[in-house]
Amino acid sequence: MTKTKHVERFAPSPTGLLHLGHAFSVLAAYDAARDAGGEFLLRIEDIDFNRSKPEFETQIYDDLKWLGLSWPEPVLRQSDRRGAYDAALQTLWDKKHMFPCTCTRKDIAFAAAPQEGGDPLVGPDGIIYPGTCRNNDLPTAIPETALRLNLDNITQTDFTFTDLIHGTVNFTLSDVQNTIGNVMIARKDIGISYHLAVVLDDAFQGVTHVTRGVDLFEATKIHVVLQHVLGLPTPIYRHHRLIRDENGKRLAKRDDARSIQSYRANGMSPDDVRTLISLAQ
Ligand code: GLU
Ligand code: ZN
Repeated sequence: MTKTKHVERFAPSPTGLLHLGHAFSVLAAYDAARDAGGEFLLRIEDIDFNRSKPEFETQIYDDLKWLGLSWPEPVLRQSDRRGAYDAALQTLWDKKHMFPCTCTRKDIAFAAAPQEGGDPLVGPDGIIYPGTCRNNDLPTAIPETALRLNLDNITQTDFTFTDLIHGTVNFTLSDVQNTIGNVMIARKDIGISYHLAVVLDDAFQGVTHVTRGVDLFEATKIHVVLQHVLGLPTPIYRHHRLIRDENGKRLAKRDDARSIQSYRANGMSPDDVRTLISLAQ
């Protein structure tokens, strides 16, 4: 039996500068692909056309080359994948795995507020959707509204994925319903969401191993459910620790002082960056 080639990817969004956290992810993915004699792919996740900027994309290529990385060209850009996204949306719609949602953020916060007071439950995408539009009649064609994942007519109840750091992760459909909920599959403004795009693109590119931060661990459960519904393979995941600043705070995109660009400007070498990452707590 031939062994499947190990394929890793790094999938940054060109909405800001790459920082140390990105360097950690990309070097981990790159090194793993190299050690396995596999392939490393770059994908530009520019579906959010309101926030993606060409200058950030250029900077991503420049920073990654400076780190010593290379990848096959041309890179896959999500903005070129509209046709594939629309086809998947149609499939999900035809199988009644989505429902239109016209709730505003305010509506959601109001409907999700516990009657006994306190804060609403929060999942990987923020407040867990309280289900307001879930039982509305479905129009025949996909409407121009936001679309959410309908979990009600999925028959499989038990799911699993392998995480090279966290081991075998088992979860149920009701865990997803209770702790994640009816996530957005297509946003009204951009007509797609991160969750659907990432699942389609990882499958399209033949990605076998997904290396990314543990902040996406819960979201992976949605990705596994989507893979099941769409008949796509589930890759092996590796959700690594997050790089934090000296106060223990997560690095954010706006944290320009820790951008790779600013380390370069301060005369650091790629090896210095590798050292920083392994020392950073
Ligand atoms: N574009 C996403 C990000 O930059 C990719 C996350 C992932 O690796 O799935 O956060
Ligand atoms: Zn709604």
